Amino acid sequence: MMDMKWIRHSQEAQEELQRVADQKGIALSVEELLKLDDKRRALLLSVEELRQQRNARSEEISLLMRKGSREAAEQTKRLVKTINVRLSGQEAQFREVEAIYQELLLLIPNIVSPDTPVGASDQDNVEVRRVGAPPAFDFEYKDHVALGELHGMIDIPRGVKTAGTRSYYLTGMGALLHRAVQQLAIDMLVEKGFTLMDVPLTVRTEAMQNTAFFPLGQDQAFRIAEEDKWLVGTSEVPLVSYYSGETVDVSQPIRLAAASMCFRSEVGSGGRDVYGLYRVHQFAKVEQVVLCEANVETSERLLQEITANAEELLGKLELPYRVVAVCTGDMSQKTYKQYDIETWMPSRGAYGETHSSSNLLDFQARRSNIRYRDAEGKLRHCHTLNNTAVASPRILIPLLENHQLADGSIRIPKALQPYMNGLERIDPPA
Ligand code: AMP
Repeated sequence: MMDMKWIRHSQEAQEELQRVADQKGIALSVEELLKLDDKRRALLLSVEELRQQRNARSEEISLLMRKGSREAAEQTKRLVKTINVRLSGQEAQFREVEAIYQELLLLIPNIVSPDTPVGASDQDNVEVRRVGAPPAFDFEYKDHVALGELHGMIDIPRGVKTAGTRSYYLTGMGALLHRAVQQLAIDMLVEKGFTLMDVPLTVRTEAMQNTAFFPLGQDQAFRIAEEDKWLVGTSEVPLVSYYSGETVDVSQPIRLAAASMCFRSEVGSGGRDVYGLYRVHQFAKVEQVVLCEANVETSERLLQEITANAEELLGKLELPYRVVAVCTGDMSQKTYKQYDIETWMPSRGAYGETHSSSNLLDFQARRSNIRYRDAEGKLRHCHTLNNTAVASPRILIPLLENHQLADGSIRIPKALQPYMNGLERIDPPA
């Protein structure tokens, strides 16, 4: 939750938040929020005054009774009754206004960094760097679905038969590659000092709300019927929630990693990316989450670090990619600054998003109430960051397509070979 004191007392803050809400496409009127805040404060004051009046009169009644002034006592009782009627009316009004106010509070966006490009959609993201060159095939190359069929690695028709659209099976070498990329990413992060966690994948509404995936992203989540629980769309939710309501030690940044399944309804994606493995309902992701002191230089440095980790992994996979600075309109409510990494996908003839690296400042920690003591001993909310290390099966698209050879075989990058029992290439069936 943003600091309401800061918002209430600063015209500049109000203007900034309204601008960011508009840029991020969030339907929030800061003016309406402030009016509601005034209204609830006025109602709260009136409720408190009425409670005081009622208590004073009640004491008066006991005094009058003790004195034997029955008639005066009866008159005061009648007054208390009227106060009570007014009080319950004011309390009901307060509850109503407070509920709307709390709902609006959850829509307040995080501010964006000064170097974030302003734009309406991913079309306005700005390329920061390109690494590696797309392959120049001198043969008719195949897409990942054709390669997957050829090698018996990907079975989409049976995925759809069993689980509906945007579903798949990975079989044989496909499933092995899927595991191999994740283990490579895990080993790389553990070596860099990340603590690997195995996390709950069904979480309470509160955890989704605290980590700012709800209410705005609620339609993206699958609910467990009859329960106040949801399937997570990313392990960022349980990783950050691990510390919710706690005071943490961030004298050194806390670096966490998890390999988990992720589930997304992809509502609103409509007919987008319906072909192949690009956009599916269930995928595996190795995630990096970092908590650090509330210092923008520190979290900026860590944003570069977790971005570099993902780039290192793509280097190990020998894949060409580019890094883009994500613009305001393509950012989520919680994000202060974001880079996406897009990997070259020959079948799309374009770079496709494979990683998303974000600095959230203290936005998520405020909602999750994660604090630390600074050098002066003052309790402060920490900063949180996250980035993909690898997400599969999406990464199999560039992996299979970029490394295919003329005879249909697939070259396994050197760094991945130890995770594939030393296999150097996957040959087509004889
Ligand atoms: P996000 O957590 O939304 O930033 O996504 C992180 C990464 O997960 C993306 O860059 C993709 O590689 C992958 N991903 C996200 N959504 C899907 C999906 N529906 N299907 C397959 N992969 C996905």
